[in-house]
This record gives sequence, C-alpha cells and structure tokens, in this order.
Amino acid sequence: MKVGVIGLGAMGAPMARNLHQAGLLQAVWNRTASKAEQLAAELSVTFASTPSQLATQCDVILTCISADDDLRAVIDALGDGLAENKIVVDTSTVQPQTARELAMLLAQLGVAFVDAPVSGGVEGAKNGTLAMMAGGDADVIEKLQPLFAAIGSKITHMGEVGCGQATKAVNQVMAAGINQAVTEALAFARAQNLPMHKVIDVISGGAAGNWFLQHRGPSMVEAIFEPGFKVSLHHKDLQICKAIAEELGVALPVVEMTLVHYWRLMNAGYGDEDISSLYREKQQLFS
Ligand code: NAP
Repeated sequence: MKVGVIGLGAMGAPMARNLHQAGLLQAVWNRTASKAEQLAAELSVTFASTPSQLATQCDVILTCISADDDLRAVIDALGDGLAENKIVVDTSTVQPQTARELAMLLAQLGVAFVDAPVSGGVEGAKNGTLAMMAGGDADVIEKLQPLFAAIGSKITHMGEVGCGQATKAVNQVMAAGINQAVTEALAFARAQNLPMHKVIDVISGGAAGNWFLQHRGPSMVEAIFEPGFKVSLHHKDLQICKAIAEELGVALPVVEMTLVHYWRLMNAGYGDEDISSLYREKQQLFS
C-alpha cells in the first residue's frame, strides 16, 4: 500500500512520520510547501508539488485539513490523479454531511471514501495511539488496517460514511465539557492559593482524573498555551455539534456556553492557542 499524506499540520505531520515508520508513506503535500519539502527531505519520500501529483503516485490518500471548505478544495485538487480503486481517508474533523457529499462525488470516479476522524491529541498522533472512528464500506476499512495500525491504537467502524464524523461530534461535546470543568476547577484551586502541581497530581490519580488534566493541566497553570488543539479548530467543531443538535431540535448547554467563551478568546487574539487557554477566562472569575 502506497500512502500519500495531505495536510502536514500539528496532526498530519506526526501521522506521516508513523506511516513512514511502517513503510507505507510514498509522498506528502502541504499548502505551505516548505513544510512538505522539509518532511519529504527528512524522510526521503516524494515531495508532491500538487495534490494531483500526489494522488497519481499513491493507492491511498490520507487528508488532515482544517475545515470543510478547505477539505473540499483539496479533494477537488486531486483531479486527474484519482483513478478507480484508489481510496481517500479523511482524518480531519468536518460535518458528517461534507463526508457524505465527498463520498458521493468520489464514487463517480470509482474512488472509495472513508471518514476517519481521530482523537488523542498531538501526543496520540506522535505516539501512534490515536482513537479512530471510521465511516464507510467495511471491506475498504478492512483493507486500510495496516494504515490504521500505523497511526492509531483503536479503530472502530461506526457505520456508513458520515458516522465517523457524527461520532467525532460526540467526542467534541465531551471535550468541551471536560475543558470547562478542568479550567474552572484549576482557576478555583489557584484562587485558594493551593500548590497547583500537587492539585493536578493528586486529582489525576482519583475519580476526577482525565487525559486533559494530565496533559494540559501542568502547562496551563504556567500560562503556557501552545497547541495542541487550537481554540479556533474546537470552535469550528462545536459549530458542527450545534448544527447537528439543531437538526434534533435542541440547544446543548455545554456547546452554547463554550462557543461563547471561545469566541471571546478568538476576539482577544487567542484563536491559535491551545484550548486550555480557556483557563484565561476562568481566572477572570476570581479577579
Ligand atoms: P493545523 O496544525 O492548523 O494544520 C492544518 C492543516 O490544514 C495544515 O497542513 C494546513 O496547511 C492545512 N490547510 C488548511 N486550510 C487549507 C486549505 N484551504 N488548503 C489546503 N490545506 C489547508 O491543524 P491540526 O491540529 O493538525 O488539525 C487538522 C484537523 O484535525 C482539523 O480538522 C482538526 O479539527 C482535527 N484534529 C485536531 C486535533 C488536535 O489535537 N490538534 C485532534 C483531532 C483532530 P498550511 O500548513 O499551509 O497552513
């Protein structure tokens, strides 16, 4: 299997490295070409000058791109490079409807599409331990097992195309609630002048312990908010969650509240910070 990776950001670049380690990586492409040039040189794989050139050389095209319209543009640019029996696997977080539309478009060319959004953060991408929730044809997903094994430790087939993204939306609602709880609780701890690293340590070992507290707690209390996962990207995801909830006739409180908080952070120029910068907002409650 020859895999090409498109989108070498915080998640895509480490996924490409792990695919290379598994002997599967053929080529890379990135909008900012310098990132692809550097990685291609480092790993001795092909630097593709266009998405179409990458697609020509690969059986499987893995995309990891910011948002819906960006992904549509990339799929469009695969153009002549696509041919029957090739597979596009998208690991971005986009609307389920976008996944379904792209699958229909690609099916006309005999190209299979799998939506396989991921969870586990930059750490999971680097360690090859992502949890992946996939939507698409079972046989195609079976064929992709070597790829999934290279980048993740858990792959679950959720159903037809779009079900991966629908599951990811569930994950993102939960991630918002966890971010709200952890940042608020740690600001509450700081206001009581508690030793913050001890607070994180002891709570991590108990029933309230969680991934976000362990991985982002120590940096947020030092006012370090390097992504990680950008506020603007989680804001985009929560808009997807909001749209799905609206279709179901409800407004989800955690989603509505977090959208407001993230909007304020983005307006203040913190959109490219890690989502743990919600701690900034929570500290203001005590000022
Ligand atoms: P990132 O570091 O901002 O990287 C975004 C990538 O998309 C970059 O390679 C960027 O190219 C490319 N891109 C954006 N717009 C494009 C366009 N119009 N045409 C072509 N390429 C475009 O983001 P990330 O954290 O890797 O996230 C990527 C996706 O994974 C997002 O959908 C995100 O929601 C999802 N995700 C992220 C995490 C996380 O913890 N970070 C976890 C799970 C899922 P340039 O280099 O040229 O900007």
